[in-house]
Amino acid sequence: PARTRFAPSPTGYLHLGSLRTALFNYLLAKRTGGQFLLRIEDTDQKRTVPDAEQRLLDDLRWAGLQWDEGPEVGGPCGPYKQSERSELYREHAEQLLESGHAYRCFCSTQRLNALAEERHKVGLATDYDRTCASIPKDEAEQRAASGEKNVVRLKVPDRYPTYTDLVYGKFKPLKRRSGDAAFEDPILLKSDGLPTYHLANVVDDHHMQITHVIRGLEWMPSTPKHIAMYAAFGWTPPAFAHVGLLVDEKGNKLSKRHSNFDISINGFKEMEIFPETLTNFAALLGWSHMEKSDVMDLETLVQKFTLKFTKGNTIVTDGKLQFLQRKHAAVRVAKGGEGLQEIVDAVLRLLDDPNGPYGNWYHGADTPARYIERILHADGENYTNAHEFIYRHAYLFAPLRKRGFKDVPQRIVEDCKKLAEVGQEDWEKEALKQKVQNLIDAMPEGRAGAKHVYHYLRVALTGKEQGMRIYDIMEILGREETLKRLSLEI
Ligand code: GLU
Repeated sequence: PARTRFAPSPTGYLHLGSLRTALFNYLLAKRTGGQFLLRIEDTDQKRTVPDAEQRLLDDLRWAGLQWDEGPEVGGPCGPYKQSERSELYREHAEQLLESGHAYRCFCSTQRLNALAEERHKVGLATDYDRTCASIPKDEAEQRAASGEKNVVRLKVPDRYPTYTDLVYGKFKPLKRRSGDAAFEDPILLKSDGLPTYHLANVVDDHHMQITHVIRGLEWMPSTPKHIAMYAAFGWTPPAFAHVGLLVDEKGNKLSKRHSNFDISINGFKEMEIFPETLTNFAALLGWSHMEKSDVMDLETLVQKFTLKFTKGNTIVTDGKLQFLQRKHAAVRVAKGGEGLQEIVDAVLRLLDDPNGPYGNWYHGADTPARYIERILHADGENYTNAHEFIYRHAYLFAPLRKRGFKDVPQRIVEDCKKLAEVGQEDWEKEALKQKVQNLIDAMPEGRAGAKHVYHYLRVALTGKEQGMRIYDIMEILGREETLKRLSLEI
């Protein structure tokens, strides 16, 4: 069983990319019967957005990704918020100082800035020259004890061991080259005694017994440093799988501004995308499966999940999103229950909104909820959102504005009025179909009249030339409204 974690920093809200990371970790844990942890990495207090943490929890729950351990649910490795674990990180920094894998750096910000500028001028990718690494340990401890401001840096080795990424395969051992950014000694503990991402992340993944880390490609350059830290502590690192970034068609990193749709979870909620649509959509971004169909709810994703990720970045387009939404809508309609009820409620809310565009619309002969359900049963595989639904079926909610017939013989119009012979108690699609058949059979031109009949019925009842099956429409409109529309002048 895998123990995985999603470790967001509350510096922003959940969006498509971070949801995907959370989802992959969730799926791996659930697939293997393990646990999915949520850890809040709030080490960068300056960049923390006040309501981001709560929103992250809410949005993950909305998506169905309930964590087994973490904020609000607790667990044996808590607290699950890094700002509440400072003592642990400090102890571990001490441990690395003690073993010589880390050193105190007393360089002032001014010196570091000047140094960085100088080094960049001569083309070095690193900012720091390791001056403080050569201060004898005793001297460094004394200076620190007397209150001199310092940070703790990891002394990265001259050679990184090989490691295998589950997506990118085996990495060759890496040897230090002067000025190579991969070998810059990262800060582990800041001068205020709080940890940086590198220290807190590694210490927590170890203490929380994380077995697999699936994360974005932007963290791959840090991985050798992390592996070096595990080695310095004498710990076994988790397995790493780095997944490509999400990009738009032009190859730019997906951001709110670049993409043609809002990728924040709120954006998807505003589009009325179902949670199961969004998790399905996110799962397909960089993960490949052997199933016949791309349509999978969360449970199915759990069953089918493997670590088969594609290398490189993933281009996101929204076409698939609407396709999946329609498919999941059809599933909700077929299943009935809460999922269907949510759709019906959304449509009713919009229809009934006195300030909305549909304020005075007709709701059908039946109770409104039943009416909407019937439409969904007839046309559920086309549903994407409430507005689009009402708009597409406007003829079922409002009187017809215009009807454009193509040469319908007056006799056909009169014949169709005979649908009135079907009584209220028989008014359902099979009986109606039979009646229309009989009318056609009785026509002097026989089947040749059918074309006119169908055209007339459709346009008379809906104002349009295409749409749902005509018998479904008659059943949904009901006897009274159908006959009323058939009696209108053509
Ligand atoms: N806190 C990091 C982030 O926000 C976690 C990176 C990781 O998964 O190691 O992405």
